[in-house]
Amino acid sequence: MLKIDEDRCVGCGLCMPSCPVEALRAWGKIQVDRVLCNECLECIPNCPVDALRED
Ligand code: SF4
Ligand code: SF4
Repeated sequence: MLKIDEDRCVGCGLCMPSCPVEALRAWGKIQVDRVLCNECLECIPNCPVDALRED
């Protein structure tokens, strides 16, 4: 399952385009729409500060 480390997230939004279902929103901190997210985990390598992880 995709896990967000909100302490690490700087809200840069770089992960957002990597999500094929547009489940990521950056409002200060990244937020995941859990209804849209299909757990593909494609977003994880696109976070430069390792705020996205598999749990
Ligand atoms: S795990 Fe996949 S579907 Fe979920 S937010 Fe990341 S890229 Fe989008
Ligand atoms: S790429 Fe990482 S630091 Fe940037 S908004 Fe996404 S989760 Fe946060």
